[in-house]
Amino acid sequence: MLGHMTTITASIRLSKSKILSGLQCAKRLWLEINHPELRGDDPALEARLQAGTDVGVIARREWPDGILADESNYDRALAMTADWVANPARPLFEGFFAFDGVRIRPDALVPQPDGSIDLYEVKSSTSVKDYHLTDVTVQAWVLRNLGLPIGRVFLTHLDNTFVYPGGGDYRGLFRHEELTGFVAANAWQVPEWVARFRSVLGGSEPAILTGTHCHTPFSCPFFEHCDGKQPEFPVGLLPRGGKLVEQLRVVYNAGFERRMLRETAEHVPHLAKSLNLISERVVDLWPLTVISWYHPQMKGSWSLKKVLPTVASDLDYQANAVTHGGEAAEAIAEYVHPMTSKARRLEIADALREYCKLDTLAMVRLAHHLEAIA
Ligand code: SF4
Repeated sequence: MLGHMTTITASIRLSKSKILSGLQCAKRLWLEINHPELRGDDPALEARLQAGTDVGVIARREWPDGILADESNYDRALAMTADWVANPARPLFEGFFAFDGVRIRPDALVPQPDGSIDLYEVKSSTSVKDYHLTDVTVQAWVLRNLGLPIGRVFLTHLDNTFVYPGGGDYRGLFRHEELTGFVAANAWQVPEWVARFRSVLGGSEPAILTGTHCHTPFSCPFFEHCDGKQPEFPVGLLPRGGKLVEQLRVVYNAGFERRMLRETAEHVPHLAKSLNLISERVVDLWPLTVISWYHPQMKGSWSLKKVLPTVASDLDYQANAVTHGGEAAEAIAEYVHPMTSKARRLEIADALREYCKLDTLAMVRLAHHLEAIA
């Protein structure tokens, strides 16, 4: 097995976390490697990392006879990993492995009586997230390619029904979710990711604009850097290009929009920073329209409903399943109702997406019209 182990050197440029970054956004991966100094501050990051570390340490009690490849002595940890691979008699925590330039440090590798080795990845969450599936798939791919007889694969997370009895007794704190089948079915994707991200890293900075992907599944630390580079009216992103303008900046009635952003931020705290940033960058077209545009068809009203047909008559809300804000609110209420079927939710989501697309296009067309007559 050792013959297959790739030596860990500074030239290795991918790790499990880099693959996860690349899957979120190729530009994030590129920036992490080429311009780490552009990362924004994340005051909560250290606390999150510490929480993850603490949970990992407690989880090791699940395998009391395990040994730790302690990174404080790197050479010793590497040697310990190599010894363990030659004779995997006891569980190994945080061993160092790499295959084809992809580095991993599995939380726990646990030898089984039949000679196979179970892989456990420990997370401080209370459920399995999509990106955890990617995480364990990459790890199993590396280990199997190194020749290790990986049997079952588990994601270990916190059990939210656990009640701490005190006295350092954490029995029952963890749940082990078996993901062996998922990993087997998805391992084929890993070499594709590796090839794709090597190609990204071999090229220039990817031209990717900010959008919802900047916050899913993680808040991207480069958001402030990227967002500052956004064009004011990114028309090139509109539906013709297959994407949407994903950030609200140009609006009609800024007071309402800012209030909505503020209230949303209160309900979704992990997006609050980004929503507040958007709120600060809102441009209100309503006062600009009032002072610079009038058409007899508006009949004395500067409501968007009256203005739009006079500047972009081809935009037809009536052709959509959702035609105005009131219907959009009703559609959302139906979407979140527990009795709404999955198929119906998909229909509603499509209708709302089309409505938002049209709304966004309307703002851009109005902005361009005002610019043209200025
Ligand atoms: S902020 Fe968004 S666009 Fe920029 S690197 Fe991060 S995920 Fe990509």
